Amino acid sequence: MNILICNDDGYQAPGIVALYEALSDMGRVEVVAPEHNNSAKSNALTLHSPLYVHRAANGFRYVNGTPADCVHIALTGLLDWRPDLVVSGINNGANMGDDTIYSGTVGAAMEGYLMGIPAIAFSQTEKGWRHLDVAALQARQLVERVRDHSLIDGPAFLLNVNIPCLPAEQLQPIQVCRLGRRHSAQRVITQENPRGDTMYWIGSAGAAKDDAEGTDFHATFQGHVSLTPLMVDLTDRVDMVRWQTMQSKLA
Ligand code: MN
Repeated sequence: MNILICNDDGYQAPGIVALYEALSDMGRVEVVAPEHNNSAKSNALTLHSPLYVHRAANGFRYVNGTPADCVHIALTGLLDWRPDLVVSGINNGANMGDDTIYSGTVGAAMEGYLMGIPAIAFSQTEKGWRHLDVAALQARQLVERVRDHSLIDGPAFLLNVNIPCLPAEQLQPIQVCRLGRRHSAQRVITQENPRGDTMYWIGSAGAAKDDAEGTDFHATFQGHVSLTPLMVDLTDRVDMVRWQTMQSKLA
């Protein structure tokens, strides 16, 4: 099995090291990841500056670009082999609900998916790497199951997986669920820099707004590993009907 590993926290993050160690004996497994933290970079590609690839002492390759850059160049010329699976993470913190729109962890996986390769994004539900070994084992088991049930041989998929930071004996089984929603983000934070200019810091994401049963928020709150299959087509097929009736009036 050929596996490409990426993340958005940077190639030195504990999450990607743990993920690599968990998967490394499953076949040809290589890391191509951002040099620096690229959280919340979504699917951004670097088009106006050159990208460089270096190899760290542990064999990981790192790139002065975004998560999507890493997967993109890995698949379009850097690697002389094609991955059967792109795996991203393990992210330092949750990627649930609308987080998935901003997430570089999901962005890296999505880049693989867009190129026709099955992909899985893994995140821990809290920052701080608590019980990272448990999360890495979960990732390993899911990749094994996906392989053993021949799912990587079928149509490409994009899975978003969030793992509660719990000891193994408290962690509940995988629950397939939809994305929830968060409240609108918290207020921007302003500070003055030493030169008297105002700095604006993006506030943190809001609390869960839709965390009903069946959502990723609900599942992980109950201790389950949440698994949400994602799609990329953003078409609102329900609202499309309304706009079609309006079409002649808009012309
Ligand atoms: Mn991150």
